[in-house]
Amino acid sequence: MIVVMDPRSSRDQVDHVVTLLDGIGIRSHVITGAAQSVIELLEVDGEIDRARLERAPMVDKVVDKPIPILAASRRPGEPTWEVPLGPRALMGGRKLGIIAGPCSVESERGVLEIAAAVADAGAVALRGGAFKPRTSPYSFQGHEERGLEMLALAREATGLAIVTEVMCCRHVERVGPHADVLQVGSRNMHNSPLLKEVGRQEKPVLLKRGWSASLEEFLLAAEYIMQAGNRNVILCERGIRTHEEYVRNTLALAVVPEVKRISNLPIIVDPSHGTGQAHLVAPMSNAAVACGADGLLIEVHVVPDRAWSDGDQTLNPDQFRALMKGLEPFAKVCGRELCSVTPAMETAECL
Ligand code: PEP
Ligand code: MN
Repeated sequence: MIVVMDPRSSRDQVDHVVTLLDGIGIRSHVITGAAQSVIELLEVDGEIDRARLERAPMVDKVVDKPIPILAASRRPGEPTWEVPLGPRALMGGRKLGIIAGPCSVESERGVLEIAAAVADAGAVALRGGAFKPRTSPYSFQGHEERGLEMLALAREATGLAIVTEVMCCRHVERVGPHADVLQVGSRNMHNSPLLKEVGRQEKPVLLKRGWSASLEEFLLAAEYIMQAGNRNVILCERGIRTHEEYVRNTLALAVVPEVKRISNLPIIVDPSHGTGQAHLVAPMSNAAVACGADGLLIEVHVVPDRAWSDGDQTLNPDQFRALMKGLEPFAKVCGRELCSVTPAMETAECL
């Protein structure tokens, strides 16, 4: 059982509840979060006078475990939280936030070409991996610092916001100055030290769902980041592992309207990892927008067949442009808009 304190409660009010619990012989543990504090009751035997606890000043509610979603929950009528995507765009507003780019940053020329192409087609952010989580230690692991420098050049050339992955706590300080948004990948969704670390810094965080994580585990991972002090979390559905073989992962799109119902965080969809097949990316992008996604994450490369990673699920610039065009009617019917962007984003106004 936990006592959830009102976000405005003072330390004295928290201590008062702890004293009340001590008085009835219950040991407790206080978790002080940036969003709100909670008090966990330990070793409870027998009945508890919940009403008495709930009457204490600044107690929001007393709830049974499992621990509910607090910071990431949507209160009635509350709009989706808008997260900055660099200085010129937002995720979670009326405009869809389309993030695109290569799986791995391979070369300066390559990333500049891809950045120009995706900006021209209407993406608002470039996503490319400089630190790459790979299944095999024998696969390319990313250019690391050099990759970050290439991304910075692409940002300078196009004005696109930069999204790139951090895989461990030590990366956060190294990647932070080069990125507008830090990505926590599927493999790290359960890495609570990393979640806390990205929660303690200011850059927004793109949190990908673990491929075997439940929705509750996914939202609790977001809760870690928020309780550490960073409210700017973008959720990303990227498919879960099932028995299916015709796709790399099964894209669980029902999570989108369910997240919209219970959480105020923006949620985007990654149909590239979500299917693993380039020909499925556009139809699943349409479906994602139709069911309420706030944006998309799409892998794009000038020559997908020659990509160093994830070529099978990667679109070329023409395919990406066609995907963006095809999204328009779906966006319109859902009351959303695509951002209109020039290559240099000089006239871009995505806010
Ligand atoms: C990626 O985004 O390139 C990636 C490795 O994705 P995921 O963490 O979803 O597997
Ligand atoms: Mn990839």
